[in-house]
Amino acid sequence: MKVLVGVKRVVDYNVRVQVKPDGSGVATEGVKMSVNPFDEIAIEEALRMKSAGKADEVIAVSIGPQAAQEQLRTALAMGADRAILVETDQTLEPLTVARVFKALVDQEQPGLVILGKQAIDDDAGQTPQMLAALWDRPQATFASKVEIEGESAKVTREVDLGLETIEIDLPAVISADLRLNEPRYVKLPDIMKAKKKPIGTHTLEELGVEIAPALKPVKTEAPQARQGGHKVESVSELVAELKNKGLI
Ligand code: AMP
Repeated sequence: MKVLVGVKRVVDYNVRVQVKPDGSGVATEGVKMSVNPFDEIAIEEALRMKSAGKADEVIAVSIGPQAAQEQLRTALAMGADRAILVETDQTLEPLTVARVFKALVDQEQPGLVILGKQAIDDDAGQTPQMLAALWDRPQATFASKVEIEGESAKVTREVDLGLETIEIDLPAVISADLRLNEPRYVKLPDIMKAKKKPIGTHTLEELGVEIAPALKPVKTEAPQARQGGHKVESVSELVAELKNKGLI
């Protein structure tokens, strides 16, 4: 079974993002970029499936600029067998990304596609669901445990009320939640070995995917700076202050 894994290049989660002065988006020049954290979890899960003999090949996929090769190299250093870069300098909406994955699914015929539950830059949380719909295959989102059993998978999902376990037929789409696993650290020898692993490239045109934006970003704003708090001496002072502010 082949497993396709999404690897999105995003601003590193430790970076304090800055909004561009014209409000047209977030500044990314000179900013540290990394693999989307939920995608690291997705890669780790696919690699564990391979070690357990449940998967034969792990293919990392990124859709983005040429520089996204860096994130694909990280996936290869973690242990992915090969990578595919679908090169574009445009910012794509989740529906377009899902269409790209669908085109790759048609080419590669994987038994499973594992994506992150959300990309930390757009926080859309839409691509896995849209891919499952386009592919007309089952989906198990927000997975915190996955067991492959022959032609199906038993997936424990994190839902509002606790945990839900479902069984889905393969091929299917799974989206990785935070508690699915703890991704491995990449070691230097693995980084060296990863340099020899292949990265195939495609364009959107080759895959027959058109960019047809359905959304128009209007404005990006930084959150309002929070005012500092202060300590009060007693409960009565606290109540008086809250009343003063009209909060109670
Ligand atoms: P989103 O729907 O944008 O929150 O993204 C959910 C997941 O879809 C991510 O965690 C990735 O696994 C995958 N994904 C989204 N955009 C890309 C991209 N440009 N390249 C590779 N994978 C992506």
